[in-house]
Amino acid sequence: MSASSMQRPRVAVIGAGIIGTCTALVLQRRGCAVTLIDRDEPGMACSFGNGGAISPDFCVPSALPGMIKRVPRWFADPLGPLVIRWGHVPAALPWLLRWLSASRMSRVDAHSAALRALHAPCLSRYASLLGTHYDGLIENTGQLYVWKSPHASPTEMLARALRERHGVETQALDEALIREIDPELAPGYTRGLFFPDNGHTVNPLRLTQTLVRLFQETGGALVAAQVREFERQGAAVRALVGDAGWRLEVDTVVLAAGIQSGALARSLGDFVPLQAERGYHVMLPDPRVRPAVKIANRDLMFGMTPMEHGVRIAGTAEYAGIDAPMNPRRAEVLLEAAKRMYPRLNGEGASFWMGCRPSTPDSLPVVGRATRLSNLYYAFGHGGTGLTGAPMTAELIGQMLAGEACGIDASPYRVDRF
Ligand SMILES: Cc1cc2nc3c(=O)[nH]c(=O)nc-3n(C[C@H](O)[C@H](O)[C@H](O)COP(=O)(O)OP(=O)(O)OC[C@H]3O[C@@H](n4cnc5c(N)ncnc54)[C@H](O)[C@@H]3O)c2cc1C
Repeated sequence: MSASSMQRPRVAVIGAGIIGTCTALVLQRRGCAVTLIDRDEPGMACSFGNGGAISPDFCVPSALPGMIKRVPRWFADPLGPLVIRWGHVPAALPWLLRWLSASRMSRVDAHSAALRALHAPCLSRYASLLGTHYDGLIENTGQLYVWKSPHASPTEMLARALRERHGVETQALDEALIREIDPELAPGYTRGLFFPDNGHTVNPLRLTQTLVRLFQETGGALVAAQVREFERQGAAVRALVGDAGWRLEVDTVVLAAGIQSGALARSLGDFVPLQAERGYHVMLPDPRVRPAVKIANRDLMFGMTPMEHGVRIAGTAEYAGIDAPMNPRRAEVLLEAAKRMYPRLNGEGASFWMGCRPSTPDSLPVVGRATRLSNLYYAFGHGGTGLTGAPMTAELIGQMLAGEACGIDASPYRVDRF
């Protein structure tokens, strides 16, 4: 593909979250004529409220051996770190069974390798996408995991083994060393793990908006529309159709619509088990005290990130369906737990948010060509690590559309694995 060619391929990217936006920018720079379509303002869905972690080292899938023992706990406490609402059980059951099947040791190592391959280049890929905007948006200051529990659980031991196998560098810390890094942290965190090569964005929304601006500056078109139908001709999509007669003719389509992608893919002949893994955040505009680096409380499954507009507390998982109303108590519980971590934390002016992680049972996204339509590509299902997986996903889609060999083995992300 060349920018100078007379007939530039017309590519439509559906969804202007972090995945669609990175993809649109890569394709535009590769010489395609790209239209990025969203029903809302760019970056306002799941990509708006995440914890901001950008983690080249992240390689531990959510499904691990022994998890089945924990399932009863998920029903017991509606405010616990992971909860399944009773009413959602029938809808979630097939996904949960696949998730349990993905937790077999025979599959875990492959999932872990595929996560590591997708994530490892994320910071350098963001640097090339953002250019001079990288500084000021992304900080490479490392990440810190902390535990109060004195002994590592079997799951943690396995996570450690997976990291070692995939060449992740970490530094184990005792309480004194943890407090050396973060003196504001309350006492009692007896174990820590520092990831020097990880980082975070200081503002996930501004990150997506900046990428959109760069996309537009290189000639990309941003269109506000909700894609409702796909007009087909033989085994290809010929046009996208929306409300009020909106129609866009295309040569190629990339579906990057986050949690909505499951239903859209199904209408196009591909089944993907996609579950809304609902996470919450609390944004503190005037926190008084900030974590020294992005920190994760591994006992309670939430993190805290120093951002340019305050401190963000984010995490936990709730399975309740896409459209169920948010439970503000879950966000309040996050705030209470964060105040126990940082006793001087000021909660005044806090705002609460909930978003749907588009999660697959094996923690891997779907990146690649549709099974039935020759010009349709998928880029969704990144679960809890979409901010991290976005740049390499975009790179893979660029390589696939150009018919080039992929920079990493893309077979683990194929849609027909389900
Ligand atoms: C609490 C929480 C914390 C998280 N923390 C982290 C973290 O620290 N690090 C990390 O890497 N990841 C994190 N994540 C995960 C990350 O936020 C997601 O994986 C990522 O945002 C998914 O991006 P996306 O572009 O696929 O989806 P989205 O951001 O949801 O974007 C999809 C877009 O598609 C549009 N759309 C949908 N349907 C249509 C249609 N029919 N027509 C037109 N447009 C449509 C939507 O309007 C939306 O803008 C977190 C998630 C949560 C909830």
